Amino acid sequence: MIKKFSYAVLMVVFVIPMFVSPVNVKANGKTLRDLYNNLSKLEKELDEINSDKSMTENRINQIKGNIQSIDKEVIDIERTVENIHTEIKQLNDDIIAKDKETKEFVKYYQLSTGENMYLEYAFGAKSMADFIKRLATAEQFINHNNKLIDDMNELIASQERKSKELAVHQQNIIVKRKELRQEQFKLGDRVVELSENTQSLSEEVRDAKATIRNYEKLGCKPHHVLSECSRIDRDVSFARPTMRGLITCGWFCYSDHRAIDIGGIAGENIYPTANGRVVGITWGSSCGGNYVTIQHNINGRPYASRYMHMAKIYVSVNQVVSKDTVIGTVGGYAGGVDQCTTGPHLHFAIAQGTYAQDFWSFGTHALNPATIINFPPEGGWYSTRYGRY
Ligand SMILES: [Zn+2]
Repeated sequence: MIKKFSYAVLMVVFVIPMFVSPVNVKANGKTLRDLYNNLSKLEKELDEINSDKSMTENRINQIKGNIQSIDKEVIDIERTVENIHTEIKQLNDDIIAKDKETKEFVKYYQLSTGENMYLEYAFGAKSMADFIKRLATAEQFINHNNKLIDDMNELIASQERKSKELAVHQQNIIVKRKELRQEQFKLGDRVVELSENTQSLSEEVRDAKATIRNYEKLGCKPHHVLSECSRIDRDVSFARPTMRGLITCGWFCYSDHRAIDIGGIAGENIYPTANGRVVGITWGSSCGGNYVTIQHNINGRPYASRYMHMAKIYVSVNQVVSKDTVIGTVGGYAGGVDQCTTGPHLHFAIAQGTYAQDFWSFGTHALNPATIINFPPEGGWYSTRYGRY
């Protein structure tokens, strides 16, 4: 009978996990290398966004430079056009002056003789030589003035053309400047968007690194399946967390207590309620003081336990602990760092599930420790860790 029973137990403990494990591996087959790959993917993405961002910022600076040179060019054109107009005005004045000069020259000879000035001037000559000389001089003078007027008219025409060309060019660069400003605003929005992306990606990278560090600390190697190398050693039962103690406040002591308080043991050792691994240590919480969180695997089911108001803590995160490991001592002295205690005691809580995966705060996942561990009712003492109190 006993042999048969043992065999059945062996079947449960060894054979069933053999069938269950491969399924688990398939379901949670992620290796540490997968995390490394994921991290480099995230880092690459972050690099790409960062370089996109700096390229966009460079383009914005380039646009700002272009807009500045257009501003300068517009002012230069306005100044040039103004100078051209002054020049044209001057040329027109000069033409009028030259024309007047010619007319006055002609008028002088017409008035002095009352006849055609060329002939009068020419025939008034004393000799043939004088006649030819006079004719040539008058013609030369008029031709010279006419040539000057022609040149000035040509210059005016060319300056007017130039002025028109500049006006067209100015219109074009003003349109270009408007386009550049629109592009600048659009790129500015893009930089804001990229900055938001880099921020959230940076946070993801930071979290991924922390997760990897945690698995490395647990001894996981790149090829290890994470659910295997970080596995919590199995235990079969819970024990009371101190050698002795007085139940000062139970599960129903007040609403939302969701734990039990064990008093009368100031400074005494605290032990894990079951074998497991330390998954969290908190120092100086305003309500709870110093506390340790331990993850357990009880017959394949995940549980976490928490020990609050501790005076001393002797363990560290990721440390594998057994029921016999002293994790620290009972504190909870009133008036210390911890505002949620009126006297020395251990606030002992148990939650169902995996800490940091299923929950952070024990609240909704907490279960009454007295339903899975043998504790005396409120006001009662126990004096052993196992079995009856
Ligand atoms: Zn409590």
